[in-house]
Amino acid sequence: MNKIKFLGTAGARFVVTKQTRRSGGIWLTLDDTNVLIDPGPGSLVRCLSSKPKLNPLNLDGMILTHRHLDHSNDINVMIEAMTNGGFKKKGIVFAPRDAVEEDPVILKYVREYVDKIEILKENGTYKIGNIKFSTSVKHVHGVETYGLNIHGKDHSISLLADTLYFKGLEDQYKEDILIINTVLAEGKDYIKHLSLKDAEKIISKNRPKLTVLTHFGMTIIKAKPWEIAEKLSKKLGVKVIAASDGLEIDLDSYSKN
Ligand SMILES: [Zn+2]
Repeated sequence: MNKIKFLGTAGARFVVTKQTRRSGGIWLTLDDTNVLIDPGPGSLVRCLSSKPKLNPLNLDGMILTHRHLDHSNDINVMIEAMTNGGFKKKGIVFAPRDAVEEDPVILKYVREYVDKIEILKENGTYKIGNIKFSTSVKHVHGVETYGLNIHGKDHSISLLADTLYFKGLEDQYKEDILIINTVLAEGKDYIKHLSLKDAEKIISKNRPKLTVLTHFGMTIIKAKPWEIAEKLSKKLGVKVIAASDGLEIDLDSYSKN
């Protein structure tokens, strides 16, 4: 089965530090390849307490869209879990350069446990297992940040990671399923995140088969994301849902064929 599991849906500091929503990242199973994206605080716990359990030993690798803690906190422990404590060298970890060099979030001693640490660059193309993916242009987010366009045999997924809205952003994310990190109910330029209005603009232009809003800050949670998603669906005439902790999406309902 091809699926996406939301181990957490928390976005930004307060929702994460209070664990109003969980912050474990996204587990993708596609074409017999398992990838964990943005393992934030609690990712290991969420994998193991998932039903059915998600076994980190089955991971082919991990991707960090950027080095902020809510996206990278569990990367080291997940590397240990993926490689059986370093005894089974395997997997690729993808991360922007500043997450590996400048202010590294991946400890040096665990780097030897994986087959490869691959640096993400703007508009790069990458391969992990049977999946190919490409990065977007550099986002406006304070630290080096890239969104992802993921391609399986019959599926395609855009993951619009943290960013302030910039002109042409929507052109970067044209796949069948669109996951949008929507932190704010209302935009504030000094907080470099997307607001609901930005998300609406992107969805109405791209009209994906399915949009999933996630990575919620406090203002959106207070405004009830599931109601927001329902309203957007009606208004735009496309399917929009709000992720909840533990939500699993069956990708085969949205395959190309
Ligand atoms: Zn961030």
